[in-house]
Amino acid sequence: MIKLEFLGALSFVGCSGVLVDTGKAKLVLDYGTKLQEIPPKFPLPIQGKADAVLLSHCHLDHSGAVPLFNANSNSIPVYAKDVTKNLCELLWMDSIKISREEGIELPFTKHDVVKTIDSFVPAKYRQQFNFKGSKITFFDAGHIPGSSMPLISSGGKNILYTGDFKTADSRLLKGADSDLPDIDVLITESTYGYRDHPDRKSQEKLLIETIKNTLAVNGVCLIAGFAVGRLDEILLVLDSYGIDYPLYIDGMAKKAITIINRHKSLMKEPNALDKALKKAEYITEEKQRKKIIRQPCVILTTSGMLSGGPIVGYIKKLYDNRDCSLVLSGFQCVTEDTNVYLNHEHDEIKSLFKQSDKFLKNNNLEIRKLNEKIASFNINKRCFDIGRIAFTARRRHDGEVIKLTLESGKELLLSPEHPVLTKDMKYKKAGNLTIEDEIIGV
Ligand SMILES: [Zn+2]
Repeated sequence: MIKLEFLGALSFVGCSGVLVDTGKAKLVLDYGTKLQEIPPKFPLPIQGKADAVLLSHCHLDHSGAVPLFNANSNSIPVYAKDVTKNLCELLWMDSIKISREEGIELPFTKHDVVKTIDSFVPAKYRQQFNFKGSKITFFDAGHIPGSSMPLISSGGKNILYTGDFKTADSRLLKGADSDLPDIDVLITESTYGYRDHPDRKSQEKLLIETIKNTLAVNGVCLIAGFAVGRLDEILLVLDSYGIDYPLYIDGMAKKAITIINRHKSLMKEPNALDKALKKAEYITEEKQRKKIIRQPCVILTTSGMLSGGPIVGYIKKLYDNRDCSLVLSGFQCVTEDTNVYLNHEHDEIKSLFKQSDKFLKNNNLEIRKLNEKIASFNINKRCFDIGRIAFTARRRHDGEVIKLTLESGKELLLSPEHPVLTKDMKYKKAGNLTIEDEIIGV
């Protein structure tokens, strides 16, 4: 009889890991960490000896604990796409470095990472292979380059593990494989399954509008995001709308994009990244960083939860400049003064408020909160500038404007589309606010 054991995740994001015991082999589907906690959390240990890892993708919540097998003197094959191997090496080495900076010793070393990387076995999409009495096939998950949905066929049963998956095409990738055999057991992610994501086109337009408005007042637009699968996607979004401004890439994203661009066959349009990269410049030195922010420009940089890497330096330098904007593009440490444009992930925002306070304090930045009820609002039609409360864009709009007067007498002028964070941790468009709403961030 096939047995399934869940080693983490289920009720939270992180520590993804499932043990499939076919009776002839113990197969581990992902083995990730929970990064939001310091020190990071690891999945439950496996009783007995595992035989192989089938790794869906490199993101640390799915892969971060894989080097533990080698650290525990259990070197086992790790089946994954080629690009996943290269990206895992980058992310695992970086997680050791960051942990050391935080004064935490992870339970595996660089040596364990090197040994684990050596034990990778490349898997090809839709090509079945045998492993100890099971037939295994990797299908494309459409989530990030190399992301896979391993299918285990054993004892007459088909077990599909989706990992993170995306069914729709993105600019970078085709959507997940949908031509699948009949499945008896489906193990799937449901993290965002209950949410209606905002329409992609409108989010892209908001991003482009933010960039244009920032550059129009000679500001710097800082765009933070995941190194793998997000900043590469944003780069293609920018390219599709035309890049006629200085564009820079900083942080670990440089290495990640370079790796991904070596695996052109994984991309929807193999030369798309090459084309977009021609318009961007990689930033490698501190003196370059000081120089580029003197002129209006767009900087794509790895988010590091706003806690490490070049983004910290940029924010410190630009924090008091009201003409600059910060765009956060996904799961992220968020302050009351920032907006999340591409993904509105409210639960995470709530849990990360504490971290953002810590970030601001550590960097001697002022915490400015807006916790007020609306006293009145009306709609104007005129051109205006919005001086944002803190480190965000000064926006120019021609047309409809919502004028909010808060109980303190403070006035805000917002476009009807402008996202406003209300006390119940929901984003509302300024145009949809009511007098009952209490605003905690714009
Ligand atoms: Zn992922």
